[in-house]
Amino acid sequence: PVEAGVRTVTVLGATGSIGDSTMDLLRGARGRYRVEALTANSNVEGLVKLAREFDARFVAVADASRFDELKNALAGTGIECGVGESAIIEAASRPADWLMAAVSGAAGLKPALAAVDRGTTIALANKECLVCAGDFFMQRAAKAGACILPADSEHNALFQALSSGNRDELTRVIITASGGPFRTWAAADIENATLAQALKHPNWSMGRKITIDSASMMNKGLEVIEAACLFALEPEEIDVLVHPQSIVHGMVEFSDRSVVAQLGTPDMRTPIAHCLGWPERIAGPAVKLDLASIGQLTFEAPDFARFPALRLAYDALRTGQGATTVYNAANEIAVAAFIAEKIRFGAIARLVEATMNGWVRAGNLAPLASADDAIAVDHNARNMAASLLPQIAAKAS
Ligand code: NAD
Ligand code: MG
Repeated sequence: PVEAGVRTVTVLGATGSIGDSTMDLLRGARGRYRVEALTANSNVEGLVKLAREFDARFVAVADASRFDELKNALAGTGIECGVGESAIIEAASRPADWLMAAVSGAAGLKPALAAVDRGTTIALANKECLVCAGDFFMQRAAKAGACILPADSEHNALFQALSSGNRDELTRVIITASGGPFRTWAAADIENATLAQALKHPNWSMGRKITIDSASMMNKGLEVIEAACLFALEPEEIDVLVHPQSIVHGMVEFSDRSVVAQLGTPDMRTPIAHCLGWPERIAGPAVKLDLASIGQLTFEAPDFARFPALRLAYDALRTGQGATTVYNAANEIAVAAFIAEKIRFGAIARLVEATMNGWVRAGNLAPLASADDAIAVDHNARNMAASLLPQIAAKAS
């Protein structure tokens, strides 16, 4: 039995960058939260350390080969554990009042859906799962009575600004983009950017995959689709604005031409704290915003020619019928190939485009009616991307 006023929480992807920020907030509010379950992909050591510190009830590791290691590390603690995808799903299914979905990639879809089906409150960081499952994810959440809170900073900003008006009064949302490390680079230099260059994000410290996605602006593309799903918006209602300082995170424009924005220092603990406290506000540890010392906020239009991944997101959204699933799946293959130094940086977007085109030409478009549909499209699109990889890798540009 949990004491009155204490909320039970589960963190999927507890050892990652978002997981770390979430655990930091929980650490700062001891006594108000009790940790039910924590999960990781393969980092047993990091997970067990957190489980012991927070006295979690259950921990799960996706990598099934780590069972003995996990079991031994937890010996004598009374903490239950499991391995494999089913254990991650079990962690999501166990009763908790609040859950952070911070697995990276489409691998987070099934666990997030398990939490959705419990009708609980979910802070959603894992944008790929929304992009992969499209509107279906939100429909399923509505059916189960689950409350989806956007943890992604731009969407959290929109969520906060949206309460200034109603749907009929909304004319447009604007999400900002830092522009990433290649914002001012010429196309030819972006084409040949190295892994080390792509991993150098100017403002945010994040996991590897999302950092590379930020450099290609694929991250912003995923976020355009994420915004469309979360808030039921048309592609024409979503604009991207490059804002190198990452202080204004998102804005909502209303019919009277008022624009309401959310600002803050670039620290993920602020949007996560908003999700954790919601519908109230809790104390956040981020550095106070000091606009006088920042001095200037600047804005630029995004360049769709140098950053084709962003254009492709709008194409995928307009195409619908699983095209956003393909967009995400092909990107996951492309990023893995770039990390493995099999393709140039510029080939990431080319592989995504070739996979989307191949998918449409093959007549594969069909609405997603279930999680299995989304997972099947994700799987097949990955295979198509992998088969297109050699010819994309061979082409210069
Ligand atoms: P990360 O790589 O730092 O962490 C990912 C977490 O997921 C780790 O705990 C890892 O063990 C776990 N994981 C990875 N693959 C898994 C699998 N197959 N099965 C189970 N668990 C697995 O990533 P991150 O930067 O924390 O990002 C997590 C998610 O949040 C991503 O979807 C990302 O797009 C989104 N997001 C991140 C940030 C950020 O600032 N880092 C901001 C907004 C949104
Ligand atoms: Mg974001």
